[in-house]
Amino acid sequence: MLMYANDVLLQLLFALMPFVLFNIYYRDRAVTYSKRFINLTCTVCLLLSMTFPSSVQDGFIFDIRYVIMFFGMVFGGMATGLILLAEFLVYRILLGGDGLLPALVIVAITYPASVLLSILYCRSDHRKWISFAAGIVFSAIPMGVLLVLERPYMLKHLSYHLLIIPVQNCLGIWLLLTLFHKAISDKELYLNYLQNEKVETIGHVAASLAHEVRNPLTAVMGFLKLIRDGSVPKEKIRYFIDISLDEIKRTEAILSEYLSVSKPALQSRERIELGLQLDSVIDIMTPYANMNNVTIERLQAETEIRIAANPNEIKQLLINFIKNGIEACANVSKGKVSIHLDRDNHHARIAIHDNGVGMSQGQLKRLGTIYFSTKNNGTGLGLTVSYQLIRSMNGTVSVRSEPGEGTKFVISLPVSD
Ligand code: ADP
Ligand code: MG
Repeated sequence: MLMYANDVLLQLLFALMPFVLFNIYYRDRAVTYSKRFINLTCTVCLLLSMTFPSSVQDGFIFDIRYVIMFFGMVFGGMATGLILLAEFLVYRILLGGDGLLPALVIVAITYPASVLLSILYCRSDHRKWISFAAGIVFSAIPMGVLLVLERPYMLKHLSYHLLIIPVQNCLGIWLLLTLFHKAISDKELYLNYLQNEKVETIGHVAASLAHEVRNPLTAVMGFLKLIRDGSVPKEKIRYFIDISLDEIKRTEAILSEYLSVSKPALQSRERIELGLQLDSVIDIMTPYANMNNVTIERLQAETEIRIAANPNEIKQLLINFIKNGIEACANVSKGKVSIHLDRDNHHARIAIHDNGVGMSQGQLKRLGTIYFSTKNNGTGLGLTVSYQLIRSMNGTVSVRSEPGEGTKFVISLPVSD
């Protein structure tokens, strides 16, 4: 029996492929698998598994074709199942041999069975048992058919079909489905974290909002008291009211900025003026900077710079970088974050420079990878999200940092004229 170990292990290796490919291809992406991915990996898997099958007699080949079809149906749907069926039929006919006829009879029975099993699998709570049952069914049907059509072959290789094939199928299904499920649920967890990261960032910043709202309120309250007590000359009343209105308007603007940033983002892109977005982000971040005794400085070349982007995403991105800059300066004296917006040829350049703690070489290397954070209440997701957003806009980001000196991020995004 050990002589079949090679074959079985090879088939199990193929069964691992979707899991491995998923982890490579989707590693740093903020999306989960697509049907196209499933179709493609299953097609390649099926091809490999049928090219290097296990066999005890020329013309009769056994591989994990039904396992792959079952997996394809579960994750890709019935269309994937049909693609794989077509691929199998074409390839099996090309391979030919004495086993061809039984193979066609077997697929005529097994295919509908795996459709049923996959539907059952998707609806049931007892997935383990159903996948085990599928492994058994995929081994038993060929046995039955061969017993009828190729009795001498079957009787000669009974032990192979009783022991090796069911192990191959059951282990294959188990590996393929459990590992892939695990990879997907990890991904979902990660996507969830990313979603929360936005809320968390805005939550940190919002704590400083209280101060910002309080100042104008105090001013307005003072004016109202003065007016009520009649201690304001008539000609000055209008002036006081105007100031109060300005203060209230400003507060209102800041509040609606917060609300717009914390709202779930729409996916749409539009042409936006980068300078305006930056202004509103600075409005949002100034209270946070004040709270940390950090000043924000903004420099911009005169021209308008327009890019095609989602305004919400751009704000989130800028907030992440500026927030990091402020936090890096929290414990240095005269902390300053300067933001410089300009344009070189076809790119908008946003430089965010702070004179904070800086980073070591080791830290720089890990920048932008998931969960890397040196802060007590950090999530290590801010830059991961930001890097992803930049990449999705065909932009680039570079960083220079010196421990104790400060850090400079330069984000470059294609302009839209
Ligand atoms: P978080 O801010 O939650 O820690 P981020 O992904 O925003 O997560 O940042 C990851 C890490 O990168 C930070 O913990 C910090 O160590 C480092 N970092 C990012 N920006 C700066 C900066 N401007 N100066 C110093 N270190 C920084
Ligand atoms: Mg951060």
